[in-house]
Amino acid sequence: MLKNKYTNENFEFSCEVFPPKRDEDIYGIFKTVDDIASLDLDFISVTYGAGGSNSKKTAMIAAYIENIAEVQSLAHMTAVGMTPDRLKETLDVLNKKSVSRVLVLRGDCPRNMTREEFDQRYYQHASDMIPEIKADGRFEISAACYPECHPESKSLDDDIHFLKEKCDLGVNSLITQMFFDNEKFYQFMDRCEKAGIDVPVHAGIMPITNANMLGTSVSLSGSSVPHALSELLAKYAENPADMREAGIEYAVNQIDDLMRHGAYGVHLYSMNKAKATKEIYDAITK
Ligand code: FAD
Repeated sequence: MLKNKYTNENFEFSCEVFPPKRDEDIYGIFKTVDDIASLDLDFISVTYGAGGSNSKKTAMIAAYIENIAEVQSLAHMTAVGMTPDRLKETLDVLNKKSVSRVLVLRGDCPRNMTREEFDQRYYQHASDMIPEIKADGRFEISAACYPECHPESKSLDDDIHFLKEKCDLGVNSLITQMFFDNEKFYQFMDRCEKAGIDVPVHAGIMPITNANMLGTSVSLSGSSVPHALSELLAKYAENPADMREAGIEYAVNQIDDLMRHGAYGVHLYSMNKAKATKEIYDAITK
């Protein structure tokens, strides 16, 4: 828990890392974890490759975080590519490595999978895996939510309806998709409250540290880009050092504002960048 300069004494700060594509780069991510483990982090989450492509690396990195870096880890897992046997095996492996938190996701259609194969997955939604994980009894369960609506939902009301169902199955906490406009988050939180969703929600913040990141992030997440952020991009696109500084400042301002509004915590999409993560941490705790 992070003591901060505002009223919210127990604000949680956590971040996400992802496994490297090449096996030989695994030591690079261990180094990143070592670098950020010195911060007072509540947990570090580890993503899961589309369709389970790098599930072994997810478990290995989560184990490193938990046992070597001694920070609580949260392992992502997806319904895509999952069967009951594989789910049991995945949970057993994580338990053996002392990882006791999981982020249960549906996943998207991987590049090497046809739409037909994707549609035939055993577990259709994240919510279909939750009862089995809950019954297993060894894990705290987190799930994803979307302040600006999941791109496949007909409406935010529909999305929140299914989110409530997902929470009622035994979700302990939620992590949001990245957003750049805090107002969207506050409006979402109001709607969640009205729908009876009362689990802690970690606000997903992605620092835009270079001009190319924004386009990719927006096309993957569907998050809207406020004028203030697009202005930064227009101003600093040709100047990487200034763009990095301005992107970090933008994220710090977002987090400051979330703290002042009593948010439960922030989950930083660190993109495996230890230095930027530390700079943001230092700025919000000074
Ligand atoms: P779901 O909860 O299944 O929701 C997907 C859609 O179906 C929504 O429109 C929802 O409203 C609807 N829905 C939900 N339940 C039902 C139901 N019972 N009946 C009908 N409709 C329903 N992807 C990865 O591959 N690996 C990762 O590590 C990863 N990490 C992520 C971390 C976070 C914090 C977030 C926000 C996303 C992450 N993703 C990851 C991406 C995620 O897999 C996609 O966003 C995916 O499209 C949806 O996953 P979900 O778990 O939210 O799905």
